[in-house]
Amino acid sequence: MAEKDYYDVLGVSRDASQDDIKHAYRKLSKKYHPDLNKAPDAEAKFKEISEAYEVLGDSDKRAQYDQYGSAGPQGGFGGAGGQGFGGFEGGQGFGGFDDIFSQFFGGGGQQRSNPSAPRQGSDLQYQMDLKFEEAISGKETTISYTREATCHTCNGTGAKPGTSPETCHKCHGSGYIQVVRQTPLGRMQSREVCDVCRGTGKEIKEKCTTCHGSGHQEERHSVKVKVPAGVEDGQQMRLSNQGEAGTNGGPYGDLFIIFRVAPSDKFQRDGAEIYIEVPISFVQAALGDELMVETVSGKVKLKVPAGTQTNTTFRLRGQGAPRLRGNGRGDEHVTVKVVTPKHLSGEQKEALKAYAVASGDSVNATEGSLFDKLFGKEGKKKKR
Ligand SMILES: [Zn+2]
Ligand SMILES: [Zn+2]
Repeated sequence: MAEKDYYDVLGVSRDASQDDIKHAYRKLSKKYHPDLNKAPDAEAKFKEISEAYEVLGDSDKRAQYDQYGSAGPQGGFGGAGGQGFGGFEGGQGFGGFDDIFSQFFGGGGQQRSNPSAPRQGSDLQYQMDLKFEEAISGKETTISYTREATCHTCNGTGAKPGTSPETCHKCHGSGYIQVVRQTPLGRMQSREVCDVCRGTGKEIKEKCTTCHGSGHQEERHSVKVKVPAGVEDGQQMRLSNQGEAGTNGGPYGDLFIIFRVAPSDKFQRDGAEIYIEVPISFVQAALGDELMVETVSGKVKLKVPAGTQTNTTFRLRGQGAPRLRGNGRGDEHVTVKVVTPKHLSGEQKEALKAYAVASGDSVNATEGSLFDKLFGKEGKKKKR
């Protein structure tokens, strides 16, 4: 088997620094890692990269490799019984892994997690759309969705009822096998996931006919959800164990409900604070009045004092949305908008002229005057 030059494998020059080599190795091994790269040759490539780094990543081994060259004399290393590369024997094929790789192997190096250990199932997300009012008051509802559940026929073992999974004959239950290859540097031994049991350590002779050995079964699942009063757009809620089934007897994953709250055409909301605009007439503003103002929980009396200016904001304490954490409710902020009438009857005009006179204003109420523009003619024109 013609071996490639380790420098070529890592794509670095012969005088590359150890840092450069490490960098090149990280980049390539991430690219070709079989968990991430599903190309058929990715695994082979990944092994090649790992082998190259085993040598070049260690300055002592690299020095020896440099001395003998890429096609080093047959037995030049092997003949030494692997002494020069002691690390190769004993299953340290992945000994060079560092922090980056711990995420792939759950611990890195030889402390890879046991593949037959129970693992929790995947989490699921569910988006729940709520009306504005529903988010304020909360509600109870039942949602249903499709998920991977534990197979009801075999209880998740994957074996036909009456039979049970046996210890894998190839790996004897460890989930791993030792693979030995001849290389110019001698025998290289590495630990790989067992191809018979795919790392579970168990072999199923007679598969469950419902799940075909997977131990999982798709099901329509329903769960009751209590939407808390005061929930806001974008907030999440976690329901434990309502996700997908685990493997090897591990627990179910969780369900995350993400709330989407529709806006209101009346109210604005900021947390527990509610904002509303209320139109009032200039008479109400001038003389003062008592209004019935809408809040998220019904109508409430609001006293507008005489002489109120437009854009004045009043606070209705405790009339906002419920606070999700803590007690009570926020406030409602009522901003009054004084509306100038666009259409006036003759009687109303007379009254306003009289008002103007009483105020000492000089009003020239002829056609086309400022007065008409403000209170009558302009508005009528706009209305066609
Ligand atoms: Zn096995
Ligand atoms: Zn089954």
